[in-house]
Amino acid sequence: MIKCYVAGPVSANTYILKDDATGDVAVIDCGECTAEIASALKGESVKYILLTHGHFDHINGVYELKRLFPDAKIAIHSLDAGCLSDDLLSLGRGFGISCNEKCDADVLLYDGDTLDFGDSEIKVLHTPGHTQGGVTYVYKNSLFTGDTLFCRSVGRTDFPGGSFPVLHASVTRLFSLEGDYKVCPGHDKTTTLEIERKLNPYIKWSKK
Ligand SMILES: [Zn+2]
Repeated sequence: MIKCYVAGPVSANTYILKDDATGDVAVIDCGECTAEIASALKGESVKYILLTHGHFDHINGVYELKRLFPDAKIAIHSLDAGCLSDDLLSLGRGFGISCNEKCDADVLLYDGDTLDFGDSEIKVLHTPGHTQGGVTYVYKNSLFTGDTLFCRSVGRTDFPGGSFPVLHASVTRLFSLEGDYKVCPGHDKTTTLEIERKLNPYIKWSKK
């Protein structure tokens, strides 16, 4: 089961994944731990707090989540991990949304890592370009793309660490995955990989 909550200063998506067979729960990104999110998680055992990248609008709710669920493991790509303790790196300070909280990642992620989850696993694909440590999480038939790939759009590349050619390569890598996936981005609505292969105006795709 996957539920989406829109929260935080820039309306970022927080996803709650629950494996109904085992009760495992993972939270993907959390710009703000709203009362709605906290109540949805009440009584659950949160195994992971998975971050698609380190920008403030995706991480500022993580500190509260970790207080509520101290056993949950915060996972972020190694190249974005510094954002958790530096609100210059997370861009929060630049946007006037300072966060004095600091914490460390429990799990540093690298391309190709897999995390045990329920009766399956969550796979990590390093998809930089929006940030250097951006990742996409693959869970069953869903991709959690953060700010790498959106519905008919892609992430900005004008922040520090951003690069359009790098982002282009990352999205092309996603488009090259076999078959179709539901795409659950970091902002706005869901889409599918097949629709984006055909209609995304920023990344032209032709299967070789
Ligand atoms: Zn971002």
